[in-house]
Amino acid sequence: MAYLTQPDYVKYVCSCGQLKPITSLYFCRHCLKIRCGFCICHEVDSHHCANCLENMPSSEARLKKNRCSSCFDCPSCFHTLSTRATMAQQRQAQDPAGGDAKVENKQPKKMYYLSCFNCRWTSRDVGIPDQSVASGGWPERTNPFLSRYNQLLDYYKAIAQQEKQEKLERERKKFAIRGKYITLTDKTGLTGAMARNIAGLPSSESGSSAAIANFTPSQASEEVEELPDDIYTKEVNLKQITSMPQRLAAPEWQPALVARLHPLAKLLSIKRSQRCRACDHNLTKPEYNPGSIKFKIELLAYYHVPEVKIISYETIKPGEKSALLLKLTNPTAHEMQLRLLQPADVPPVEEKEEPRSIEKSLEKSLNLEKDTSYRSIYRTADVSSSCVVVTPATTLTLAQRDDAAEYDDDSQHDTSDIILWRKSNKLALRLEVQTDSAAQSGAPARAALALEYSYRNTVPPAAPAPNHHTLYATLVLDLGTVG
Ligand SMILES: [Zn+2]
Ligand SMILES: [Zn+2]
Ligand SMILES: [Zn+2]
Ligand SMILES: [Zn+2]
Repeated sequence: MAYLTQPDYVKYVCSCGQLKPITSLYFCRHCLKIRCGFCICHEVDSHHCANCLENMPSSEARLKKNRCSSCFDCPSCFHTLSTRATMAQQRQAQDPAGGDAKVENKQPKKMYYLSCFNCRWTSRDVGIPDQSVASGGWPERTNPFLSRYNQLLDYYKAIAQQEKQEKLERERKKFAIRGKYITLTDKTGLTGAMARNIAGLPSSESGSSAAIANFTPSQASEEVEELPDDIYTKEVNLKQITSMPQRLAAPEWQPALVARLHPLAKLLSIKRSQRCRACDHNLTKPEYNPGSIKFKIELLAYYHVPEVKIISYETIKPGEKSALLLKLTNPTAHEMQLRLLQPADVPPVEEKEEPRSIEKSLEKSLNLEKDTSYRSIYRTADVSSSCVVVTPATTLTLAQRDDAAEYDDDSQHDTSDIILWRKSNKLALRLEVQTDSAAQSGAPARAALALEYSYRNTVPPAAPAPNHHTLYATLVLDLGTVG
């Protein structure tokens, strides 16, 4: 018997076919389907610095290259750097910027430097002069390839714009031929410039074509600088050269020597909300305040789908029956009827394609249509295995979640064949696993199981619809290896 506490031993089949533990799944209350990080839409809600919690709009974040202007990471160990103050005797020769010439008195002045509390790296190690202000003002190194980067950036932007423009033209022509649909420019009084504006395109093409014409492509050259003669003979001092992660943390400079390390401006963090791709409803939405870890909307599968945990199991042996103890939990505030099924007995469900409306066509003409290419990667999870959980024909009733019952000590011991014990919204089941006699010893023992459960939807429906549903979930239990 093995005792298991880790949740990854039980994986649920998402509606897109991925296998995930319940803790990484979402539940859309509008489609009544399990969703995972792979089949939902991730949207950036806000940018903030995880260190100083400064919040900024995405335009500003883009301008700052997604880095905080006042917080730095250690270039050596990537821990956050702290600002330290020292008293320094004012000497004019040491003034870095030379701006403090008026300070002629001999009063000691507070000077600041950056220090890593984790690895003891300081900005003094690499000769960065101390600053007279605690925040900001740290010397910035300019990227040696800045002008080339900007050229490339302009060029690619121009190409993207041109392609968008061409697509827009094509769409417009198509609509004009069909004649049925409203074309943006004719019927709605929307001018071409306005349409371009909505689609985020520039108001004229001349700028982009000029950028493309003036661009000089890079030339490959056969002449490469020779390596220094002593490259293979010189002794390497590992204390002086940087590691690969240290080099790649600053891709613009890629310092090869420790002496060239420079504080790294801290990368901004984002808060994201997640949306169901099929119905466009939010599955999670965080609170805007970067200091808050709460959510305004949090539709996690953990709160809606019955949770299954393995209590213990006997070693799986080919051609034999092994005991399996499972714990079921009803996380909802309503009583739940539950039945165990074989995965093959679950009625197939199809993803409905939503009907196209005029607005959708307009969206499409503006190239704003949402990406549906993800559908092509949908698949059916392979839940076939040599182990079969013998499912009892009885319907089990799970009480609603009761937070106060957590403090109760006594659990009810049932005399029933399959129910081991029952406590508040939890139920322990005594089941059996039948293993195929052809199962290879040493092969992973997986058993698939399906749940049929009643679900009460508490979303206020637009039209009076039944809010009682029968839903299905398929899960795969990892029972070690065939012994
Ligand atoms: Zn999924
Ligand atoms: Zn910051
Ligand atoms: Zn460090
Ligand atoms: Zn949905």
